[in-house]
Amino acid sequence: MSDPAPDLLELRGVSKHFGSFRAVDDVGFTVRAGARHAVIGPNGAGKSTLFGLVSGTLAATTGSLLLDGRDVTRLPVHRRVGLGIAATFQHSSLFLPETVLENVLLAALRRAGAGARTGLGGRRRAGTRAAATARARTLLERVGLPTRHDVPAAELSHGERRQLEVAVALATEPRLLLLDEPAAGMSPAETERLTRLIAALPDDVTVLLVEHDLDMVFELADTVTVMHLGNHLTTGTPDEVRASAEVQSAYLGTTEVTS
Ligand code: ADP
Ligand code: MG
Repeated sequence: MSDPAPDLLELRGVSKHFGSFRAVDDVGFTVRAGARHAVIGPNGAGKSTLFGLVSGTLAATTGSLLLDGRDVTRLPVHRRVGLGIAATFQHSSLFLPETVLENVLLAALRRAGAGARTGLGGRRRAGTRAAATARARTLLERVGLPTRHDVPAAELSHGERRQLEVAVALATEPRLLLLDEPAAGMSPAETERLTRLIAALPDDVTVLLVEHDLDMVFELADTVTVMHLGNHLTTGTPDEVRASAEVQSAYLGTTEVTS
């Protein structure tokens, strides 16, 4: 066996308080480079809040976040995107009037934008756009939207929008891809397609996934973190998590896991 993969992300005692309410309370775990790491837990467990702390849309009240050992706790979203953190959100953040291709292209150019801002010439910028367009087309093929380039995002079905969100996130060339309930509202066939897409992502994209669909979680994940009422219950292999009595009583044993 080779050495275990290094940690890409480390959460150290991370909390998010809303007033006196602790939506995320002293949570610590690590995400290995290349992992397919799922975060599960009942509604209100603090999963989306935790993702906000990692992506930077929310500021941590306490604790710290390290990407590759570098403290990113206080960095704004765009700096984190520049370091390779990309997120799709539980509530969509697409530009609905823009076409499918334009949505992906805008994300790709944002990622390339640091170069443009530091004074690249016009020809180089045109090259950047051509390269980004080619890449956007490849990504749309990968997520299963190869024939929808010129359609406004507003005209996509619910499932297609989620596919587009994944393409938009991938366009920023993430090292860490955060997916918050990507299968929410999808048909079984769309969920199956998305599962295959995530499974086929290259190993240099580490995936941190919140998902209610436990079939999808246990099919994809090599590591599972369970949260409950803002707390970290456990992190382990899917088998360990399934076998945990604490997890059973907090979550898996309940019949109502959705909504
Ligand atoms: P999950 O994604 O696990 O369902 P959330 O992270 O969305 O949970 O929410 C965790 C808890 O924090 C919930 O009780 C929710 O009502 C609360 N919460 C989330 N965002 C806010 C906010 N901006 N202000 C106050 N409370 C919030
Ligand atoms: Mg949520």
